[in-house]
Formats: sequence, C-alpha cells, structure tokens
Amino acid sequence: PSETDGKLKLAIQKSGRLHDDSMKLLKECGIDISNGVNKLKAEASNFPLEVYFLRDDDIPQYVEDGVADIGFVGENVVLEKKKKVDIVEKLGFSKCRLSFAVSKGVHYENASFLEGKKIATSYPVIVQDFLDKEGIKADIHEISGSVEIAPGIGLAEAICDLVSSGSTLFMNGLKEVETILQSQAVLIKNKNLNLEQQQVLDKMLFRIQSVKKAKNNKYVLLNAPNDNLDKIISILPGMKSPTVLPLAEKGWSSVHSVLKESEFWDIIEQLKALDAQGILVVPIEKMII
Ligand code: ATP
Ligand code: MG
Repeated sequence: PSETDGKLKLAIQKSGRLHDDSMKLLKECGIDISNGVNKLKAEASNFPLEVYFLRDDDIPQYVEDGVADIGFVGENVVLEKKKKVDIVEKLGFSKCRLSFAVSKGVHYENASFLEGKKIATSYPVIVQDFLDKEGIKADIHEISGSVEIAPGIGLAEAICDLVSSGSTLFMNGLKEVETILQSQAVLIKNKNLNLEQQQVLDKMLFRIQSVKKAKNNKYVLLNAPNDNLDKIISILPGMKSPTVLPLAEKGWSSVHSVLKESEFWDIIEQLKALDAQGILVVPIEKMII
C-alpha cells in the first residue's frame, strides 16, 4: 500500500453507472470532495481521504497493487478480474444481475441448452466458472460492449450480460433465462493496509454503516388513544423502546419509534387497526446504534 501522510486512497469510477452514487455515499458520510471530477484525483477537505477517478475495470488491479488502498466497484467486476483484494462491505447501490438471455422464440429449459452453443459476454471468467460448475462445454466470445445485439447478427445463440430492469433485453428481442450472479457496488480493500490506514477505513466504514442503516429504517410518529397504548407499544420495536409523550388533549399520547422499511407496511396496518391517528413517517439521515 501507498506510503502516506495518513491519507487513505479511494478509487471510484470516473463516469458511468457507479459514479454518482459513489459520490453521493461520500457526501452522506460527511466527506466533502471539493475540486473537480475532471481531474484524475481529488482530496477530501474534512477527512483523510484522496479520491482517484478511474475506469471501473481497472479498480481491482489498482487496489491489489496498492496504488489505491480501497475502491468502490461492482461485485461483478471484482469476481471477473479475480484480483487479490478483500470485499469489506456491500454498499447497497448499483444493484443488477448477470444473466443468460436468448432470443424470445427460443425454447430454453435449463443450462444444458448452452452445450456446444456460442455465448457472447463481457464476463468470460464468471461465465466459464458457471459452465465448469454445470459440466457444460460452450464457446465463449468475449465482447466488450453491446452484447445484446450478438444474437440478432448471428454472432451467438446466447448472451450473458448485466440486467437491471430487463428493458435492454426486451428491446432487442431477447428473454432472460438464467441468473448466475446478483451484484451490487462493494467496498474492496488492499490486503496489506497498515494500522493507520485500517483505522481511517474503520472510521469510514462506521459512517457507511450508519448511512445504510438509516436508509433501511423510518422514524414514525403517531397519536394513540391511551386505552390502546400498551397494545400499540407492544408492536412497535423502537431503538430501545418507543418514546411516549402526553398530548394536550386528554386521553391521547404521541408515540415515536423507528421501524424497518421491510416490516413497515405490516406494522402500519396493525397500528391503524388500533386507532392510531396522524401517523407521520420521516426519513432518517444517520443512525448510530
Ligand atoms: P467504465 O467506463 O468505467 O469502464 P463501464 O461502461 O464499464 O464503465 P457502467 O456501464 O458504467 O460500466 O457500469 C458500471 C457498473 O454498474 C457495472 O459493472 C455494474 O456493477 C453496475 N450496473 C448496474 N446496473 C447495470 C446495468 N443495467 N447494466 C450494466 N451495469 C450495471
Ligand atoms: Mg468498465
């Protein structure tokens, strides 16, 4: 890893699908990156961090070599490049999947369809791993972009490409038939960080985790009739337990709590059934437990 002044070097994508969310995450972590993105690197004004803007494909190599200490990059790229880096944390953005697709009219029952076929992909390593695991022999054609046009021009009978909504496949007359990887942006690190670098990383990870937790939770305020207060409290988890404050109107209380996004609607329905009123749901910016 880099000899430093105590600054951690972070590699992120220069431009493309990962760039904006990577910058946004830094901002949400309270890290200000001031000078322009058109340069190769920028410095944080209020955190010991230097940011390098690179092609996403190059990020695992830079982190393995220690030119950068850490990086934000798609898990799909990390697995494809097979570099010696550690995946430290899933970042929760740039979610997509790597899937096989064939022409709409083609009958595909299972992976044995691929036996002896030509497959176009930008992910030859991951696809080969999958084929080996399934005991299938096929002919992989590596192409770097616009993989989805390969079946239409007779280059391949199947493709393996990243999908998020599926609209690109649809527009090219293809159907998704098999998913081999679920991916999202991850934080990777060099395997030989020194103590000082690891400490800065830990500080950053603490912030990232607080931001992620906050996104998965909502702050809920509601008015509850005192007669149902016990029941309402029992279905509200809260961080320790819900906050209960008396309302000016007799017989009513205000209840404050934190709910997980995933169980949110279920609990709101139960609350309504218990005559809770004026339910307010507020996003949380940071959450430290
Ligand atoms: P670069 O110029 O940096 O090499 P790129 O063109 O290779 O960029 P992008 O298209 O910007 O890469 O995608 C970057 C990453 O975004 C992908 O590796 C993947 O992890 C993620 N991603 C999320 N959704 C999609 C999608 N629908 N298609 C492609 N990539 C996606
Ligand atoms: Mg790329």
